Formats: sequence, C-alpha cells, structure tokens
Amino acid sequence: MYDYLLSEENKKFREEIRKFVKNAVPPSLIKKMDRDEIRYPSEWLNALAKQNLIGIRFPKEYGGRGLNWESEIIAQEEIGVLGSSLACLFSLPSICGEALNFFGTEEQKQKYLKPMCEGKKFTAEALTEPRGGSDFFGATCTAKKESDYYILKGEKRFVVGAEGADFFLVYAKTNLDPNADPRTALSLFIVDRTEDITTEYLYGLLGTRGGGAGRIKFKDVEVPHENIILGEGMGGKIFYQMMVPERLTTASGFIGLARACLQIATKYSTKRKAFGQTIKNFEGVSFMIADSITLLDATRAIVYNTAKSIDLGAPPALQRRLVSESKKFSTKAGWKVINNAMQVMGGIGYTTVYPIERLMRDARIGELWTGTSEIMNLIIQHEYYKEILSEKWFGRDVEQDAIDSEAEEEKHYG
Ligand SMILES: Cc1cc2nc3c(=O)[nH]c(=O)nc-3n(C[C@H](O)[C@H](O)[C@H](O)COP(=O)(O)OP(=O)(O)OC[C@H]3O[C@@H](n4cnc5c(N)ncnc54)[C@H](O)[C@@H]3O)c2cc1C
Repeated sequence: MYDYLLSEENKKFREEIRKFVKNAVPPSLIKKMDRDEIRYPSEWLNALAKQNLIGIRFPKEYGGRGLNWESEIIAQEEIGVLGSSLACLFSLPSICGEALNFFGTEEQKQKYLKPMCEGKKFTAEALTEPRGGSDFFGATCTAKKESDYYILKGEKRFVVGAEGADFFLVYAKTNLDPNADPRTALSLFIVDRTEDITTEYLYGLLGTRGGGAGRIKFKDVEVPHENIILGEGMGGKIFYQMMVPERLTTASGFIGLARACLQIATKYSTKRKAFGQTIKNFEGVSFMIADSITLLDATRAIVYNTAKSIDLGAPPALQRRLVSESKKFSTKAGWKVINNAMQVMGGIGYTTVYPIERLMRDARIGELWTGTSEIMNLIIQHEYYKEILSEKWFGRDVEQDAIDSEAEEEKHYG
C-alpha cells in the first residue's frame, strides 16, 4: 500500500525478506510447531542469523544492520505471514536488544547484544508473573543485593522462548520496602540460564504454539552485579523504552497474519462457484474483501506513521501513544480481516485444509499480549488528556459556533 512512500533501498529489502520467507521456512516446521511437536524452533533462529536478520535495527558493530523502524515494520509484515510464533521469535531480539542497545554498558553489548544479533545466544523477556501482567509495576520477583551477586527469586509465566533462550531479561524488585514507589523499585537484569532456573513448557495454547512459551522459576539465582542494566530502580525507564518495539512489532507483524488470510480468501472467491457463478460476483462476498483491504491499508497507514515518527525523533510521550494506537488498531483490524476471510471461505475455512483457522487461533493473542487492548486504551487516553490539557490552543474556538454559545449560564460542569 505504501509502495510510493518507500525508498528504493527499502523496496529491495522487502524483496529480500519476501524471498527469505518463501524459501527458508519449510511448511513442515510450521505444522510441527502447531502440533506442539516442536517446542522451540532453533532452526528458525539459525536461518534468521544466517541471513543477518536478527536485531536488524542495531548497529553493524554489534551484528545488526543499522536499519530504522521503517525497515523493521516492512520485515515484520513479511514475516507475520508465518504466524505469531515465528514472528514473535523474530521480534524478541528487537525487544530485548532495545534495552541492551539503549542502556547497556559496552561490556553488556559485547557479551549479550552482539552474540544475540549473530544468532549465537537466544533471548527471551520475562515480565509477566502469575500474579498478573497488566499491573507490571506490581511485580513481586525480588533481587536482593549481596556482596558479590544479586539473589533473584520468584516466578514469571507465559514467557515466549522460555524453553530455548540462553539468557533472559528479567524485571525484579530491588527496593524491598513495601512503601517504596513502585515506579522506582524495579530493576532489569540480564540473567544467564543456569541450573537454578527451571523452565516448564506448560500451556495448551490456543495458537502461537511451538515458540517455547512457558513458566520460569528463579530459585535464589546468583546474578552478577554487572548484569543489572542502567542501575537499581531504572526498570521503569527501560520498560517504557522496551514497550516501543514490544508493541510496534506486534502491530506490524499482525498485518502479515491478516494479509495471508485475505490473499487466500480473495483467490478462493475467484474460483469457488455457487448458484452457477464465482462467489466473487456476489456483493456480499466482494464487499467483505473490500472492507478487509481497507482495514489492512488503514492499519499500514497508522503503523507506518508511527514507525516514521519514531525514526524522525518523536518525543517519548507521543511514541507511547502512537505505538499503543497502532497495536490496538492492528490487532482489532487483523482479527476482523481474518474473520472475514473465514466467512468468504465458508465451511472449508474452518478446517485444517487451509491455514486460516491456525492464523485465526494465532491472531487471538494480539489483543492480549504485550499489553491488552484495555491497557493500550489506558495509555492512549492518558497521553491524550495530558497533551490536550497542556496545550496552548491558537486555532479557532469552535465552541463559539453554536447558536446559543453565549448562554454561559447553561454551561454547567457539575
Ligand atoms: C502466548 C502468550 C505469550 C506471551 N509472551 C510473553 C512473553 O514473552 N513475556 C512476558 O513477559 N509475557 C508474555 N505474555 C504475557 C502477556 O503479556 C500477558 O498475558 C498480558 O500482559 C496480560 O496479563 P495477564 O494475563 O496477567 O492478565 P491480567 O493483567 O490479569 O488482565 C486480565 C484482564 O483485566 C484487564 N485489566 C487489567 N488491568 C486493567 C485496567 N487497569 N484497566 C482495564 N482493564 C484492565 C485486562 O485488560 C484483561 O482483560 C504472553 C502471554 C501469552 C498468552
């Protein structure tokens, strides 16, 4: 849709990713993951590494490609057609790498960011606890400072890549005073997998299978002091930065999921016949296609605008609002597009003969993970109220255009 807006370089990049997605992933991998026969597809990460597609936004000196957000959303859309598990494993280095690249020391970058981008170390992010994911600042995992180490205790769940990651980014409380401000009580740690860490592949997931999602238990894990990122109490600051890739990767990846379904359904509608003609000739069908492509283009527009704004240096508060809008819009629109696709297909769309049912199961996670749609709304309204109340409006005062605008006595506010 935004072809006219893309540079020649990015068009070439998209071709590269499209070819990679076409050739590097055998259908058998996706099928085995969906049957839960594969718990962690390291072959996928190895293939990404071979093509230098891990952590593409990070500097070349650390193994990335030094690309910007515009390029990353292009890659995410293309990879999204493979489903939410492979897309998520592609996103994780972008998310974890954000913390390392923005805030890590040179030593941390050499030890974790570089091998991660080179595909030598796999990563996962551990935010959510059994107690809850939305209330991030209510985290109960603790990291107590001892002379040589922090002692990490607690539990995280639903962590994609828990099964296969070599290191985890883990948020834990370092200020254990119950009255401490939760926003400054949390810190972020790089935690190597050791014997004191147990991971369990527990869940019968509706979709997004085979990505190693599981529970992690930290039982008095010794974490060296040098593995804290940015220092004690800086978890909140890092969290806000990590939420940019966290949400924008979902927003862009889910365009791919929905696009795949729409393509299948559109082609099907040109072949399938009913009442003596192809079903595409029925407005009831072709208008569903029209609504779907409109939704997809609208999603691309909001996601592209967000990516471009970040590339051009939008302030953090605006970034927060835009990524939240993008994530909410994309996952809701994608869900509608996939439902339309299934409707166009009729009963066969509901079977495992076509991948629409799998992508639909995958897509349902969109409004839940990386912050639910309700949490996106909390952020969007919060940032907008702040913006509007601090604004010195110099434009037209449209309130004065009402016939009875001067009836001040009727303007009650409670
Ligand atoms: C397949 C899968 C993969 C995941 N991957 C990861 C991962 O890799 N790493 C990780 O850390 N986490 C991961 N998660 C966790 C995911 O991010 C959380 O499930 C999500 O943030 C919601 O948290 P919760 O499940 O605890 O729900 P809760 O926080 O308990 O929320 C329950 C309901 O209450 C609503 N709610 C809560 N607070 C408010 C409020 N203030 N206002 C309005 N509504 C509210 C929510 O929107 C939701 O509808 C994954 C989850 C799944 C299922």
